[in-house]
Amino acid sequence: MLRGFGPAAQERLAHGRVLIVGAGGLGSPAASYLAAAGVGTISLVDTDVVDVTNLHRQLLYTTPDVGRAKLDVARERLHAINPQVVVHTHDTRLSAANAASLVAGHDVVIDATDNFPTRYAINDACLAHGIPFVYGSVARFDGQVSVFAAPGGPCYRCLFPVMPAPGTVPTCAEEGVLGVVPGIIGLHQATEAIKLLTAIGTPLVGHLLLVDLLAQDSHRIAVARRPDCPTCGDVRIPSLPPMSIQHCNPADVAALLTGDDPPIIIDVREQWEYDLVHLPISTLIPLSALAAKASDLDPSRSYALLCHHGMRSEMAANWLMQHGFSRLINIDGGIDAWSLDVDPSLPRY
Ligand SMILES: [Zn+2]
Repeated sequence: MLRGFGPAAQERLAHGRVLIVGAGGLGSPAASYLAAAGVGTISLVDTDVVDVTNLHRQLLYTTPDVGRAKLDVARERLHAINPQVVVHTHDTRLSAANAASLVAGHDVVIDATDNFPTRYAINDACLAHGIPFVYGSVARFDGQVSVFAAPGGPCYRCLFPVMPAPGTVPTCAEEGVLGVVPGIIGLHQATEAIKLLTAIGTPLVGHLLLVDLLAQDSHRIAVARRPDCPTCGDVRIPSLPPMSIQHCNPADVAALLTGDDPPIIIDVREQWEYDLVHLPISTLIPLSALAAKASDLDPSRSYALLCHHGMRSEMAANWLMQHGFSRLINIDGGIDAWSLDVDPSLPRY
């Protein structure tokens, strides 16, 4: 019955999939309210056990839960709030190594962490997957909220391009936080997640909300995309050299075959041509069969492509380059040139 929301938005929530990284001060209110709101799937990432010092701000947990895994307690509480919500738990630390697999399959990610390596890993994985993430952080009596990695909007590295050195920014554990602060910021994050899932209102894309609870003052500052952002900018330094196909004549390839890391020679001619003449060390994969057989090849290896005169092999090399192979050699002149320049015993046709 809520005007501007209604059954359609409620239906979208039921199909929504939200990943919450961190089941602590921010994750507790965010997860509780998203479950109560009817979000269909909530995934939680955490490794902690409940400690008595958590209880003033992590209201998913109570005194009898001290010593239990937060994920176990959180799953019970969220099911008690809403038995229909599907809760996935991941007893791991999100890192650059596993972030992509954790964020995949979600519509929105909530950054409820308290450390920078995790936050940067969330940012980079969400950018790569095109998933917006709702950032929140708290310290003492203050908090911040924003939405990063949304289409057209800035990312976290646009605001803070470089990760601070370990120890230069005190954590909540070191300088404390008033218990209501993560409650309020976590609910701002839940609000943004609901807005993103249901496409209502204006999400905090391109704005950082700063909340000062001692003064009860909050204001928004604009955050623009940086053209030179290391992860989402227009002028990025490529992390890999541009891929290209190396062109070698048969004599050069013959020399490579005696070296430490010899290329694998793939002959892309037809069977009848191969029957006429072939290099004993070569493997036959006719050009027409390459797409079907490519999964048998190892993209980390070096391949030298061979045909009659070097045209079909170049087509094969181009196709492989577009499908993840980076160490590719075209044998210019093909087996005909091989016969002329390297091994005259090979018949020509
Ligand atoms: Zn950026």
